[in-house]
Amino acid sequence: MDPTLEKLSARVREVVDLRHAASILSWDERVYMPPGGSAARGQALAAIQRLAHERFTSADVGEWLEYAKAHADGSDAHSEATAILAVTARDYDKATRVPASFVSELAVATSAAQHAWRQARAEADFSLFAPHLDTVFRLKRQYVAFFPSTDHPYDALLDDYEPGMKTSEVQAIFAGIRPRQVALIRAIAERPQVDDRLLRLPYSEPALWDFGVEVATAFGFDWTRGRQDTSPHPFTESSGAGDVRITTRFDPQEPFSTLWATMHEAGHALYEQGSDRRWTRTALEGGTSLAVHESQSRLWENLVGRSRPFWEHFFPALQRRFPAELGGATLDEFYRSINRVQPSLIRVEADEATYNLHVMLRVEMEIAMLGGEVAVNDLPELWNEQMREYLGIVPENAAQGILQDVHWADGLVGYFATYTLGNLISVQLWDAFQSVEPSRDDLMRHGDFSPLLSWLRREIHQHGRRYMPQDLVRRVTGSGIDPEPYLQYLERKYREIYGL
Ligand code: ZN
Repeated sequence: MDPTLEKLSARVREVVDLRHAASILSWDERVYMPPGGSAARGQALAAIQRLAHERFTSADVGEWLEYAKAHADGSDAHSEATAILAVTARDYDKATRVPASFVSELAVATSAAQHAWRQARAEADFSLFAPHLDTVFRLKRQYVAFFPSTDHPYDALLDDYEPGMKTSEVQAIFAGIRPRQVALIRAIAERPQVDDRLLRLPYSEPALWDFGVEVATAFGFDWTRGRQDTSPHPFTESSGAGDVRITTRFDPQEPFSTLWATMHEAGHALYEQGSDRRWTRTALEGGTSLAVHESQSRLWENLVGRSRPFWEHFFPALQRRFPAELGGATLDEFYRSINRVQPSLIRVEADEATYNLHVMLRVEMEIAMLGGEVAVNDLPELWNEQMREYLGIVPENAAQGILQDVHWADGLVGYFATYTLGNLISVQLWDAFQSVEPSRDDLMRHGDFSPLLSWLRREIHQHGRRYMPQDLVRRVTGSGIDPEPYLQYLERKYREIYGL
């Protein structure tokens, strides 16, 4: 290998190694660390992240990248080396545009904002958080100015989570979803409601955990390259395809949330475990975007895990684990219970039919805030109006409304849309899989998920970050991100459950 290119690869390997170390520290912080460790852990993590940033953004990396571009021969535009170089250059460009002084200013501001947010939420008092939110958005406007100008300032924020995605595309997609999803929820509300009391019996936590492990194993989760623990907010943390960790939680009020979290995080983990070994310690390791990542978690959680064929296979096993609670229940009762639709105030508890509306409301607010079209103090009222229009319910206080998510306090603006985009992609993939595997539902009825996992490995997982997200979706499904399959899926599913 050319010695200059070897220097570039070696530096990237070092940076990826530092990120892997940070990832384990961060996992431990959220899973096992005693509270007393938080100050030292924060400092250790900041030191490693700063080191990784400095090593990656140093001037020599820029020179090596220039050299690599100048010496690339155009004949192998689609080679692996070209793909690695292109993604490394894109990451470098992004990382070097934002001055270190701004990064520290944002870190200080979001640390104060998180503190204020916790207090504001505990007291359900938005005014405690409002000045911090104002600062976060002021800094986000500054952040946008570090990048070349785009059609919409929000484009630069979206691009951090969903590379290549434009605000106008998101708005067009949302405009297509909104009326049909609102109409669906209203139609469901007029039908007799589903009784889901059987999900709220006193289920044993260890037995539900064991069942979740059985399901994740059936999905293909590789326990020699991953593990599961508990944490207050379920998440997936990866330090390369050989070590991918998921968490779940147990809530006695919603015992089955432990199972949905395991399925969801296992979906993220399968993506990470499936990244080709060729990309190990390169810029291509991991998943290509948050939306594509979310398409994997949603596919396993909802399209597989909340489907009737899946439970035709697994319900008898669940009944055997819970004879007292479910011995007398029918498959149909259980299936309807886990798919009950009920407009709720809290996004993370929302069902499939209402979830996207929670997301749209936030994205619309972010876009308006960034453009200076609404003032911070008007947000709670706007929130309530939108909730009434979309879901027909209004929070009693700001803690159940605008203060419920930590994202803005964390400085994460431009993130929410990826949840909905992931839902849409999940159904596009689900349909594409059925077109190559017409017996898809029968495979699920037999608990055989290996054809599905093999297909996802081949079409999505193995590529890591090689393709831009929309290009990847187009390669697999023949179209860009499209809401139509998702809307049809929802309408079909709930027509049957609610007799619409
Ligand atoms: Zn997720």
